[in-house]
Amino acid sequence: MPSPVIDLRSDTVTRPSSAMRRAMADAEVGDDVLDGDPTVRALEERVASLLGKDRALFFPSGTMANQTGVWLMSRRGTEVLLDAEAHLVHWEIAGLAALCGVQPWPVRGAGLVFDADALRAHIRPSSPNAPAASLVCVENTHNGAGGKVTTLAGLRAIREVATAHGLPVHMDGARLWNASVATGTSVADFATCAETVMVSFSKGLGAPVGAALAGSAAAMRDAWQTRKRFGGGMRQSGILAAAALHGLEHNWPRMHEDHERARELAAAVDGVGGASVVPPDTNIVMIDLPAGIASDTVAARCAEAGVKISGWNASRVRAVTHLDVNRDDVRRAGEVLASVLEKAAKSR
Ligand SMILES: *Cc1c(COP(=O)(O)O)cnc(C)c1O
Repeated sequence: MPSPVIDLRSDTVTRPSSAMRRAMADAEVGDDVLDGDPTVRALEERVASLLGKDRALFFPSGTMANQTGVWLMSRRGTEVLLDAEAHLVHWEIAGLAALCGVQPWPVRGAGLVFDADALRAHIRPSSPNAPAASLVCVENTHNGAGGKVTTLAGLRAIREVATAHGLPVHMDGARLWNASVATGTSVADFATCAETVMVSFSKGLGAPVGAALAGSAAAMRDAWQTRKRFGGGMRQSGILAAAALHGLEHNWPRMHEDHERARELAAAVDGVGGASVVPPDTNIVMIDLPAGIASDTVAARCAEAGVKISGWNASRVRAVTHLDVNRDDVRRAGEVLASVLEKAAKSR
């Protein structure tokens, strides 16, 4: 019998467990656009309390929550300073321009993710002929950098530079859960460094749908209307919120296992056939290929051997560990990848 496919393309590929599905089926629900859904309210209160913010709102996706955060905190016709490899730059279909009317001003730091010094260097001297800035965005963990964590000290330094220039901060914390597990810093401490914080339930927490945006009571009143205008008003959404609550309770405490698996995978492939792995802080393994080996070839050969990974760009593949792959799966994935990389290097 052929072995089942091991899917490491993303931590979004997880399927709701039967316990999660039961929690969804049993959820108490109401009309969240009309007068509220009790399970959504419970999730929003839990997230607001975890993040130490006045209020949180449940969203259908991280993208919509990010765009709402930027919409609220920025001004049309200004710039948003953010990491050059940010999700907001590369994977939200130019929503910053199309929806929010702002121009991204990509910051490139000396390291894998921008820091306070890089931010300071990118803030323009004010001029009637240059765009003004209105917002700074941070991403923690940073997906494109390989699940990298910006530490609390690093974020505080960024926050100080932003504040010194009168700029609020929005945090794309789709994987803030992972950052907290990797560092022991609470998500609330991380969240003190931003006015608005987005967190996702459909990455490492394993829920099928959803994200939240948290911030001040005033900002969240506006966010409620913006969410509705963007088409994100949901009715009996308690069935989805129940999955998120289940993920927080049962899947967050085991997230360190994903990080261990990622380190094991990195160790199995680093250096093989000239490939070089970005040392993983969390659950994302970025593998840079030597010249002459294309990422789509490597991804296709791995898929033929039953291991799905994604081509991140022409010379980089990405593998992500998650709750639906165990240690044996990841060991097999490492063997397959290593053998593909070795063969590719020989036939180059
Ligand atoms: C996945 C992701 C998002 C968007 O979340 P969706 O629910 O897929 O819309 C935003 N930022 C980061 C860093 C992500 O990884």
